[in-house]
Amino acid sequence: MIVIYFFLFGLCMGSFLNVCIYRLPQGDSIAYPPSHCMHCQSRLQMVDLIPVLSYLFLRGRCRQCGTPYSIRYTFVEILTGCLFIWCYTVFGIGFPLIKALILTSFLLVITYIDYDHQLILDKVLLFMAGAGALIECLTPSVGLLSIIAGSLAGGGLLLLIAIASKGGMGGGDIKLATVLGIYLGAKLTLLALFLSFVIGGVVAVFILLFKRKGRRDCIPFGPFIAAGAFLSLLYGQELIRWYWSLCMG
Ligand SMILES: [Zn+2]
Repeated sequence: MIVIYFFLFGLCMGSFLNVCIYRLPQGDSIAYPPSHCMHCQSRLQMVDLIPVLSYLFLRGRCRQCGTPYSIRYTFVEILTGCLFIWCYTVFGIGFPLIKALILTSFLLVITYIDYDHQLILDKVLLFMAGAGALIECLTPSVGLLSIIAGSLAGGGLLLLIAIASKGGMGGGDIKLATVLGIYLGAKLTLLALFLSFVIGGVVAVFILLFKRKGRRDCIPFGPFIAAGAFLSLLYGQELIRWYWSLCMG
């Protein structure tokens, strides 16, 4: 039953994240003006703001002028709902869950803005760093030394790759890895980056195979770091324990 609440909470959060994803790159306020149609500027009514259902009722069109909305808004809402349920099933109720939901929300915004604009915004990273520091102050779970080590190692590793690949890695990716250190600490940050290389590599092979993009087109790396960070937060401790148990034979 409680799973349904988390899904609904995720849908509403996803609706807010959509506003962030759309407005932050344009430098607009996320609070004002109220949600409106991009085409005819008519203000959305309360009932139009209900996630998913409003899309179904209005068949994905503006109530006033009939301009179709992208299905992606609804997809992001449902995705957020599913990820929130996933976090809940791993952590249960408690502070680790709150931290997971906050990190997941930031990662979603970063993923979609990077996908749209090949850009990771400093203001998003600053908020993310501040929220992570606040959580760590309220309920210490990582430890200051591990945070410093994770930030330096994570940011440093991507900086080295950026230098070695002559621009294959962006400044935003380096900063994101640095901020992840606050949430994940040293071990899980490095694991997150390792996972992001694995996921990114697999996806790159598929894209090349199906020729969705040419070899020279650039694929933003932020979404892969985000996916790696999400999996590392949820399963990192288990993965590391499993890995060591293999090594010890
Ligand atoms: Zn309209």
